[in-house]
Amino acid sequence: MKKISYNKLSEQEKNLLEQARGAGNQYWNKKGTRHVGAALLCVDGKIYQGTSIRRTNVSNSTCAERMALDKAIFDKNYNYKIIAIVGFYDGKMENEVISPCGLCRQILSEAENYSGKNKKINLLLANENVSKIIKTDSQELFPISYQAKSYE
Ligand SMILES: [Zn+2]
Repeated sequence: MKKISYNKLSEQEKNLLEQARGAGNQYWNKKGTRHVGAALLCVDGKIYQGTSIRRTNVSNSTCAERMALDKAIFDKNYNYKIIAIVGFYDGKMENEVISPCGLCRQILSEAENYSGKNKKINLLLANENVSKIIKTDSQELFPISYQAKSYE
């Protein structure tokens, strides 16, 4: 897990962060403006965007990264390279870098295994104006995940 500046990113990574920021504008949150955008780059080059849906009951809400992943699954696209996630905090914590919730960490960890190749998914986590970015991967973020095969 390391901090990285925007100008050290590849053009592909910069584009992905911009797509995640754009996806964040599609959010639904009737209680405020806190929201998240995500953009998932697949091995075939296709990008899936997701945004946060905040419902009355938080447990019924949808995270941006989960929406992006589910859209890829809907297209039967199971090979992922990078997911960029950008958090917006009501303009109050503009320097706060977003971090996936526990549920999303588990889901990203499971996604590594969809193709059967056990590949790490790289993550770019950023604050809303991408002045602070953390580069990590799914295994570093969630090293000992629940894997159903452990119990078969
Ligand atoms: Zn989540």
